[in-house]
Amino acid sequence: MIDLFSDTQTRPTPGMREAMARAEVGDEQSGSDPTTNALCERVAALLGMEAGVFMPSGTMCNLASILVHTRRGDEIVVDDQSHIYNTEAAGAAALGGVSVRALPTRVGLFTADMVEAAIRPRQRTAPRSALVSIEQTTSFSGGTVWDLAEMRRIRDVAQGCGLVAHIDGARLLNAVAATGIPAADYAEGFDSAWIDLSKGLGCPVGAVLCGSAAFVEAAWQWKYRLGGAMRQSGVLAAAGLYALDHHIAQLARDNAHAAQLHRAVADLPGLGLDPTAGQSNILFFSVEGLGITAADFAAACMKEGVRVRALGTHHIRVTTNLDVDQAGIARAAEVMRATALAFAERS
Ligand SMILES: *Cc1c(COP(=O)(O)O)cnc(C)c1O
Repeated sequence: MIDLFSDTQTRPTPGMREAMARAEVGDEQSGSDPTTNALCERVAALLGMEAGVFMPSGTMCNLASILVHTRRGDEIVVDDQSHIYNTEAAGAAALGGVSVRALPTRVGLFTADMVEAAIRPRQRTAPRSALVSIEQTTSFSGGTVWDLAEMRRIRDVAQGCGLVAHIDGARLLNAVAATGIPAADYAEGFDSAWIDLSKGLGCPVGAVLCGSAAFVEAAWQWKYRLGGAMRQSGVLAAAGLYALDHHIAQLARDNAHAAQLHRAVADLPGLGLDPTAGQSNILFFSVEGLGITAADFAAACMKEGVRVRALGTHHIRVTTNLDVDQAGIARAAEVMRATALAFAERS
């Protein structure tokens, strides 16, 4: 099967497993796992931040950041397709007592003007606006890459009004691969930012959350409180270090593969593709114009050995990744094209 369901489906490569087996380990909780420490320093340097903390997941990076940066009754500003708003089990509300202001967007991008308008005046009756989060790249909106200048405008508007600015960088390195802009430039001046290791980088577990030393110290306490502190985590951190050494180039290949899939279906009638489609390693389109549901389309592709993801009633998300090579992409392009054409003929 050619699995384009998500870049989370990647399996550790033989080289990565070897690095994990060889990892030097200690006790993470007491700060004495050398491999975990090395990974945190490496990612902090990559993002141009003072410090980093290894987390079991990106979800915990977002949650710990929100818990550090806010108080109960605060409000955070995100986009309405964001991971924080849709698929983190309302952790901000459940654990932080924080409400979420979800800005309506089409491809996951909002503007500094929208943020400015969403920031509440300080009034007894209003929640305190506390944090704005940007997802680079956007996940459920199709891998759109944020423009650096707009990110900085949003950062400045937010910080100018006393909010903190956060980057959900689950796929930040895919944006770096797409634009050539260093990760540290994207993260510059933000209060917190993180990258996921278990998406395109191909690790089995983990993410690294970065910020100032004081922020990371506070995030560490939440990690501990949430049950995320580990022991011989060097086995996992070694996978992260291996990925940073060996899998970065793969992200550019993944992006190119998504662009190839985009070219293969761009001219088809009935497929709703945004002009921004295929910017990074995700291709997102609607099959509503074919008169079918996303589940119909996904099932038809699956019959031909290609797994894509149905999102909502009409949207398909295809995510290229380390485990699908050039031949697999060519085959997936053929299958998606033939499937769309077959449905178009029937409709
Ligand atoms: C996957 C993802 C997360 C969560 O990361 P996990 O490691 O799966 O918990 C958060 N934000 C975005 C944009 C993601 O794609």
